[in-house]
Amino acid sequence: MYGIYQDNNHIPDSFDIYFNYLKNVNGEIRSPIEYSHNIISCFADNKTAQENPELIAVSAQGKATRFDSKEKFYCDWICPSKKAYKDSIIKLVADTVSNKNVAGIHLDSIGFPHKDYCVCNDCISNWKASGLKFSEWKQQIITEFVNDVAQNCKAKELSVSLYPDPIHPERFGLDIEALEKIVDFFVVPLYDMKYLSIYWIEILLNAFAQRISKPLYIMLYAEDVEIKNLVKAAELVKHYTKNIVFSYNVENAKRAISELKHNII
Ligand SMILES: [Zn+2]
Repeated sequence: MYGIYQDNNHIPDSFDIYFNYLKNVNGEIRSPIEYSHNIISCFADNKTAQENPELIAVSAQGKATRFDSKEKFYCDWICPSKKAYKDSIIKLVADTVSNKNVAGIHLDSIGFPHKDYCVCNDCISNWKASGLKFSEWKQQIITEFVNDVAQNCKAKELSVSLYPDPIHPERFGLDIEALEKIVDFFVVPLYDMKYLSIYWIEILLNAFAQRISKPLYIMLYAEDVEIKNLVKAAELVKHYTKNIVFSYNVENAKRAISELKHNII
């Protein structure tokens, strides 16, 4: 199955599955996109962070933003303990799936921003009340959030993006085993700007394949890349899963799919 992942509401022909941002990292919210798995950027939200800085996740070093953190985040991160914010995401999901032609909901940026986050007053008091280790508590918070979304998404498929790290749940709070019981499938971005060297793709795929029994979709970056390198990467992916999603560039994705289908014959 070949898919396309885009930050617009277009549904070009020639793909088997569509992912379009309903809410992107800039905090912009579109109308529900029919026939697509509507992507919701959960805790990456620049607009909310700018308007409500008290909601931003923090570490001992500072706030999880593009400007304040040593990690140099690609966007600003909301703390996963903020109940009113999480309720707004759950309402967005419920409103979206009430459109009968929406294919599903895809949750992006579902975790904590990094290992040392979040130590805001809400997180510290919630963690201490839990009696769990900090890393276990982080995983519980994220699993509960995804489960709350699932309760409001029962009529449609639910999927999540995982970080391309199958072995360290303590970093972002993603408990793959627990999430498997909730979601219908996973999407893992394995991005490279050129795909000249691709041995690392197989290492990560092998590790994910051993941990995931639900369908696994691998996302490849199709913007400004040589098609022959993109095809080489996709052919390696196909040893592990038939589900490949190309991100952003429709024409490059179509060219790659055409070659992949031709190569089979
Ligand atoms: Zn927090």
